[in-house]
Amino acid sequence: MRQKHMLLPTLREAPAEAEALSHQLLLRGGYIRQLAAGIYSYLPLGTRVLHKLERVIREEMEASGFDELLMPAMQPSELWEKSGRYSEYGPELIRLDDRHGRGFVLGPTHEEVITSLVAAEVNTYRKLPLRLYQIQTKFRDERRPRFGLLRGREFLMKDAYSFDTDWSGLDESYQFMVQAYHRIFARCGLHFKAVEAEAGSIGGEGETLEFMALAEIGEDTIVSCPSCQYAANLEKAVFRQQEGVTLLEETIPEMEEIYTPDTRTIEELNVFLGEKPESFLKTMIYMVDDQPVAVVVRGDHEVNEFKLKNALGASSVELAELNKVEELTGAPHGFAGPTGLDIPVYLDLAAAAVADGIAGANRKDYHVRHLKKGRDYDPVATGDYRNATTGDCCPHCGDNLVFSRGIEVGHVFKLGTKYSKSLGATFTNMEGKEELMIMGCYGIGVSRLMSAVAEQYQSEAGIRWPLPLSPFQVHIIPVSIKDEAQAGLAEELYRTLQQAGMDVLLDDRDERPGVKFKDADLIGAPLRIIVGKAASERKVEWLNRMAESEKEMINADEALARIH
Ligand code: ATP
Ligand code: MG
Ligand code: MG
Ligand code: MG
Repeated sequence: MRQKHMLLPTLREAPAEAEALSHQLLLRGGYIRQLAAGIYSYLPLGTRVLHKLERVIREEMEASGFDELLMPAMQPSELWEKSGRYSEYGPELIRLDDRHGRGFVLGPTHEEVITSLVAAEVNTYRKLPLRLYQIQTKFRDERRPRFGLLRGREFLMKDAYSFDTDWSGLDESYQFMVQAYHRIFARCGLHFKAVEAEAGSIGGEGETLEFMALAEIGEDTIVSCPSCQYAANLEKAVFRQQEGVTLLEETIPEMEEIYTPDTRTIEELNVFLGEKPESFLKTMIYMVDDQPVAVVVRGDHEVNEFKLKNALGASSVELAELNKVEELTGAPHGFAGPTGLDIPVYLDLAAAAVADGIAGANRKDYHVRHLKKGRDYDPVATGDYRNATTGDCCPHCGDNLVFSRGIEVGHVFKLGTKYSKSLGATFTNMEGKEELMIMGCYGIGVSRLMSAVAEQYQSEAGIRWPLPLSPFQVHIIPVSIKDEAQAGLAEELYRTLQQAGMDVLLDDRDERPGVKFKDADLIGAPLRIIVGKAASERKVEWLNRMAESEKEMINADEALARIH
C-alpha cells in the first residue's frame, strides 16, 4: 500500500478520553475511531489487523472440524422468550420493534439462533456431531463501555457451537476447542492463561474455562499457582462465606447517604474526583452482630480512598491506617480495600479482621496479595478455609497462590441441554428413540483480542505488533521522496516485496523525515527499511524492531534476502 492516499490519520497526542495505553495507541496510530461510546470504525490499518486475526482463527477452527456459517444479528425476541433469556439478560440486551410492532433483539450471542436452526435441520444421530462457527458483530449495551475495543457495545466475536449425541461427545468437541484456543492465542503472540471460571449469563451445566490475556488493566482477577497447573478466575476460585458475617446492603451508590455526615452528593464527589458516576460501582457494608466490620467499595483506588474517607466523615484519615477507621466507625474493626479484587475476598478478610483482631492490609494494593498467615491472622483460630480464600495456598499443591489481572479474550462452555431443551433440538438415536442434543459453545472476542495484543505489545512510541498480526510486515521509508535515487530504490524494493506476497507499506509522502519516523513507530510494522542518501550505492538502513536491534546500513539486496 502507498501511504500518500491511505486513510491513516495519526495523532501526536493521546486523546484525553483514552485511559488504556492500547486504546491511546490504536487511536494515535490511526487504527480506529469512535463513533459513539463503545462503538468504533476500523480504519484500513485496524481492518488489516482484524483480518489477520480472523485468518488465524479460521485456520484453527477449520483444522478442528468446525464449519463456518453466518447468522443474522437481528433476531426475533420470541426465540429469546423461548430460551428464557429475554427477561434474564437484562439491560445489556438491545431490543427493538419492527414496523409491524414485532419484537427483535440485536444478538449479544447466538445460542438461540443456532439451536433453532439445528433443531429444524437435523434430527438423526447420523448427522452428529455437528460443529459450527461464525465471525460476526455482537451487540451488548454494556453499562460501562471502556478501554476502546476491550469493552465495546458493538464488537466482533468468533462464536462456535457443538452438537453431540452424548456427554463424551461433548467432552471431545470441548477439548478440540480448548486446544484450538491455545494454538490461536499462541499464534497471536499473546501471553495468556486458561482459568477455571463461572458460566455467567449463558448458563449451562458443565465446566467452563476462560482464556485470559495477562494485563494489568484487565478487569478480571486471576488466581494461579506457580507450581502446579491450578488457575482460576477469582469469582470461581474463592467463594466462601463465613458464618456470622452477613451482607447488610449492597447499593449503587446510595450508601453514601447513610454514611455521609457532611452530605456530599454523588455529583459533588464526582466533580471532586473528576470521575464519571459509574466509577462508583458498589458500596457494601458487612455486619457482624450488628456492628459494621467492613466498608467495601469497588471502584478506582483513589475513588475508594476518597469515598471511604467521606463515608466515615473524616477527610484526613488515611485509608491505610485501619485502626483509625476502627475509631471512626466505632466498629470493632474496620476494613476497606482497593479495587479490582472481588467481594468474597473482602468478606473473608473482614471476617479475619474480626476473628483475629487485626485489620488486614496496611499498604496500597497489599490487601490480598501479601497477606501472611501467622503475621496477619491466626490460621488455627480462623480455620483452614482462609488459606484458599486469602490467596495463601493452592488448593491442589499448597504452594502460595499468585494474583494477577487478566482480560477475558475467550470462553469455552459445556452447555449440556439448556438450549436444546428450550428450543427443541432433538435427534433420534440408534434405537429410534428421541433424545436432546448435548451442546457446547465457544467464544473469542476478536476485536477485544486486537486490543489485548496491543496492550501487551505497547511501547511509548507505538504498538510493536507481533509479525502474524501486524498490518504491514515491512515499512519502506524513503527519507526524501523528491530525491530520484531514493524514490527509485524505494519503489523497486516495494514492488519486489509485494510480488513476493509480503504486506508492504511505502511512505511515498512528501513529509519531513521526523514526521515519517514518528508515524512509522505508531504504525508499528516489525521490519523497516529506510532509503536515504546512500541509495545511490544501493545501501539502505535496516531496522528489525522485533529483535530490538540497532539500525544497520546494509545492501538493498541483503535487505530483501533477510525478508524472504
Ligand atoms: P465480560 O466478562 O468481559 O463481560 P463475557 O463473559 O460477558 O465477557 P462472553 O459472553 O463469554 O463474554 O462472550 C465471549 C467473548 O466475547 C468474551 O470472552 C470476550 O472476549 C468477548 N466479549 C464479551 N463482551 C465484550 C465486549 N463488551 N466487548 C468486546 N468483547 C467482548
Ligand atoms: Mg459481559
Ligand atoms: Mg466474563
Ligand atoms: Mg465469558
